[in-house]
This record gives sequence, structure tokens and C-alpha cells, in this order.
Amino acid sequence: MGAAFAILAPWIVRRGKGTADPAGQGKDTKLSCSFCGKSQIEVARLISGPSVFICNECVELCMEIVLPLWEKVASRSDDG
Ligand SMILES: [Zn+2]
Repeated sequence: MGAAFAILAPWIVRRGKGTADPAGQGKDTKLSCSFCGKSQIEVARLISGPSVFICNECVELCMEIVLPLWEKVASRSDDG
């Protein structure tokens, strides 16, 4: 994991209470990750899109996939 992860890490590891609720969910509302289907209470963080949700676990999984690509692109631009 390189610089890109260091930049994005605070975004995904921000857990716990007290932070603004991105999904705007009330306690009675049942929201779940559109990717893995876990409910908001099963994950540390649920991030809302226009009409979809993604949990922190799926974001971390996606980052594992895309970060090597980013670093490849970054090193390529270094070469010129
Ligand atoms: Zn998920």
C-alpha cells in the first residue's frame, strides 16, 4: 500500500459514533449495502450514493483492487 492508501485510509477507517451520518439514516430505517447486502448495523460504516449504499468492507475490498492500478498509473506518470 502506497501513498494513495495513506490519503484514502482516514476516510474508510473513520468509525464509531459522533460523525456525520452519510446515509442520513435514522435508527428505525433499515439500510443495507447494495454490494454485500449487510445491514447498517452489521458494518462500521455505510456510505450512501444516489440510490445505492456501500459499506466500509466493500470499499476496502474495492480499494485493494484499484490501488495497485492507481500506483501503476502514478509510477507511469513519473516516468513521463
Ligand atoms: Zn458491503
